[in-house]
Amino acid sequence: MSRSDTIRQAKQKIAEHRAGAIGMYERHVAEVSARIPEFGEIDKQLSRTGLKIMAAAIGAPDAEAGVDIVHAEYDALVDRKRQLLAEHGYPADYCDIKYFCPKCSDTGYVDVNMCECLRKELVVAALEASGLYSLVETQSFKTFSLDYYEKDDKIIMKQNAIRLWEFANNFVPGKSDSFLFIGATGLGKTHLSSAVARILIEKGAYVVYESSITLFGDFEAKRFGNNGYNSETGEDVDRYTDCDLLIIDDLGCEVTNNFTLSCLYNIINTRIMMHKSTIINTNLSQNELRKRYSDRIISRILGEFIPLNFRGFDVREQKLRKK
Ligand SMILES: [Zn+2]
Repeated sequence: MSRSDTIRQAKQKIAEHRAGAIGMYERHVAEVSARIPEFGEIDKQLSRTGLKIMAAAIGAPDAEAGVDIVHAEYDALVDRKRQLLAEHGYPADYCDIKYFCPKCSDTGYVDVNMCECLRKELVVAALEASGLYSLVETQSFKTFSLDYYEKDDKIIMKQNAIRLWEFANNFVPGKSDSFLFIGATGLGKTHLSSAVARILIEKGAYVVYESSITLFGDFEAKRFGNNGYNSETGEDVDRYTDCDLLIIDDLGCEVTNNFTLSCLYNIINTRIMMHKSTIINTNLSQNELRKRYSDRIISRILGEFIPLNFRGFDVREQKLRKK
């Protein structure tokens, strides 16, 4: 699935919500109008009064009355509808449109800004597309096993898992910690990142999970305007600063140059200033990080992120050997 497909899929979901809400509204209105003829009449009057309100609001010459009078007329009709519903044993809101997302009336946008509901659908679609969706399904706290760790490693890994479980369950956007996961490949960094992502997504948080290679690739695509860079296709780099939790996987795998250094500093610094949580996974040690990244990046990360050391022997290898 391409990135534009994921956008289409997310927007399709929102459109289905809207169609569902309007469909239900129309069925309820038809049902009630058939039972209570006056109700159907009032509905027609209401749409006429709506037009009158618009005419009065723009001061049209054929406006029949002032805005206040027409508004009062409108409110009286709405009250009468509710009264009729109650008299016939219906809930007062039976004929209201019940949007899945009242914030945006299932349009996906509030004014010109993307609504949270569309962002969430985009994350789900992006997770599905990126393959992380299957990770999120299988790599949860429940499936995280300490059996692959020994002695001190087991104690430390247990502490890490508990710390992250608490972080995920108590997560408040703009008010939670940031972490630096340090450790060799196969020690559970991706597993615990996915476990955290899963809980946050279920809570409705906006989570972005990306490898450092893709992340810097997106910034380069924007900078050079290549690959048909288009904010609508998900390469929108704003998501790296907008999201509630950003997980950067495999920092250190990218080709480091002045451009990537300045991108990294900007992302980290912006997120720190906005009190937004970030998780960085890296196979590099603290010393290797110091050698590779500029002092100002390192001082931001080590100053603001909680370092968690991932210890042990490659879990993936152990699992393969067991088979
Ligand atoms: Zn919405």
